[in-house]
Amino acid sequence: MVGKHACPECGANLEWNAKAQSLKCPYCGAVVEWSEETRAQLGQEVVEQDLESALRQPAAAKGWGEERYEVQCQNCRAISVLASKTAAQRCDFCGSPAIVAHESEHNAITPQSLLPFKISDGQIRDRIRQWYGSRWFAPNKLKTAALTDTLHGVYLPYWTFDAHADAQWHAEAGFYYYTTETYRDSNGNTQTREVRHVRWESASGQLQHFFDDELVPGTVGVQPQLLRQVEPFPTTTDLKPYTPEFVRGWTVERYQVDLAKAAQINEGDMDDQLRNMCSRQVPGDTQRNLQVQRAYSGRTFKHILVPVWLVGYTYGRTTYQIVANGYTGQIAGERPYSWVKITLAVLCGLLLLALVLGLMQGS
Ligand SMILES: [Zn+2]
Ligand SMILES: [Zn+2]
Repeated sequence: MVGKHACPECGANLEWNAKAQSLKCPYCGAVVEWSEETRAQLGQEVVEQDLESALRQPAAAKGWGEERYEVQCQNCRAISVLASKTAAQRCDFCGSPAIVAHESEHNAITPQSLLPFKISDGQIRDRIRQWYGSRWFAPNKLKTAALTDTLHGVYLPYWTFDAHADAQWHAEAGFYYYTTETYRDSNGNTQTREVRHVRWESASGQLQHFFDDELVPGTVGVQPQLLRQVEPFPTTTDLKPYTPEFVRGWTVERYQVDLAKAAQINEGDMDDQLRNMCSRQVPGDTQRNLQVQRAYSGRTFKHILVPVWLVGYTYGRTTYQIVANGYTGQIAGERPYSWVKITLAVLCGLLLLALVLGLMQGS
């Protein structure tokens, strides 16, 4: 299938270029500015989809807009969606060579919108270098490994949910009051002291809230605790409608948290937030027995992609990962400690101590 937006110079398929923030031809280097006009030409818009009807009857998949192949990593289980069957030698997420073809599900939901890469590979290399520099005791080998062939730009799958919430709450609101008590101290003298009491009153109230673009990750390739550290992704303002040009030349991870599961996680997240909002409405100094009844309406969702730069590497027998937000540049990662460096540091310390002690004795 030919891309909808071909290179004006040579007719090849254009790719999104993070550095130029434009579409670029990988063959002749021609740059095509991305504008509202381009978007209109492609006839795409960011749309919310009704959740209830999608859960009842999944809409026919729109597809990727061109041929795609899926491979699954036998080590970390991540599924990568690639433009070419032969593209992947190693897993982009963990570096493992154990990848096998994966049968794509024909009714899988494909992304409707995405956040294109904003940080280029050159910029992220600089940032990762600085990040390493601020970390002592990381093995030197790692520094070189991370900055050469193991850096990959990957689009991660996310679900975003909107909903109107109506909540009613009941609670017991506690109000502090103080009384003065007299007592005898250990010497038998009469003393007074202030004692705090709580007067409980029943309270109730209600609130409405609109949840906008609540995110639930659909990835298995990136560790959740690392992902949380590089969030947020500015999806409410900066999403672009999906077109194949944006992801061409980049690896896309196929979601493994499906819509039903993600909707369930989202409901739990919203419940927690609503409970906090209701709790803040309870008057008084303290509270107990908060009960919240809520109803959600107009729930919609989008399946989107967000950009990350990944360094996945194996050191010893363990797999480590560094993740950088491809939009904001925020970095999070794990790295092994170099026992050689640590031992040397300890030995230096001991030597210094021995020197000092020796000097003291000598004087
Ligand atoms: Zn060209
Ligand atoms: Zn893997």
